[in-house]
Amino acid sequence: MRRALVLGMLIAFGALAAVKAQPPPPQEPKVLEVGKIKDNLYVLKAAAGGGNTAVFVTADGVVVVDTKYPGWGRPILDKIKELTPKPVTTIINTHTHADHVSGNVEFPASVDVVVHENTKVNMERMAPATGREAQAVPNVFTASGGRGMPKHTFKDTMTLGSGADRIDLYYFGRGHTNGDAFVVFPALRVMHAGDIFARKGPPLLDANNGGSGVAIGDTLAKAHGAIPNVDQIITGHSTEMTWADLKEYSEFNKAFLAWVQLEMKSGKSVDEAAAEYAIPEPYKGYSPNPAQTKSNIGVIYNELKK
Ligand SMILES: [Zn+2]
Repeated sequence: MRRALVLGMLIAFGALAAVKAQPPPPQEPKVLEVGKIKDNLYVLKAAAGGGNTAVFVTADGVVVVDTKYPGWGRPILDKIKELTPKPVTTIINTHTHADHVSGNVEFPASVDVVVHENTKVNMERMAPATGREAQAVPNVFTASGGRGMPKHTFKDTMTLGSGADRIDLYYFGRGHTNGDAFVVFPALRVMHAGDIFARKGPPLLDANNGGSGVAIGDTLAKAHGAIPNVDQIITGHSTEMTWADLKEYSEFNKAFLAWVQLEMKSGKSVDEAAAEYAIPEPYKGYSPNPAQTKSNIGVIYNELKK
């Protein structure tokens, strides 16, 4: 009787210990795929990590463009160590979204962070994107005590470095957000466009962060018209594109605006318009995204009503 009780207690204790000793759930490995754009310019991609990260190796150190979702700063730093012994000196964020800025907080506090002036304001709030309110995540910069926040901003243009190391930053107006920076590496004839050109497909028009479906086509056309000598574009989330692809993408967005204006004029609701939309023939091959298209029609209706 007594032995049975003791045995029972031992089994119960053993079961408790087994529960306690259970290892934490395995973290999914954060694997970065390295693409070599030029001898001193790489793109780090990870499907689950967020936006494309550019790594530009200059004489004085490394400039990083966009730092992905929370938890990806350390893997980016580790991958850079495999590419160069030079330290990271600067981060440029193309815009405010959590899948482009969150890794900032894992970089050394000494690293300079440069963004468009509106993006700095947006990063102070880190409001969820239009249509993605349910996916809101905690503000990483509040949790970091401000580490990783911008130290320098620009309004229209800004140049960092010189000669082979020169980087030109441009802002041409509202689009994906109200702070989309075009990041150009003139010596390499390459540009990182961020999410104002994320992929060939409907853009995310993020009105919550100042984005505009009325402006995005013009903003893209201005960039195409004003920025000289670029052959290759690192997109926000897709493969590399050509300079001609940027022009085509501006026209795709202008055509979408013109179509939405007609739908509104003919009295169609957002739902009715969304049900009618198909990617126009000149843009076949673009990825359709019905949910994003519907959100974008709503954003443009709201803008046109004002
Ligand atoms: Zn974005």
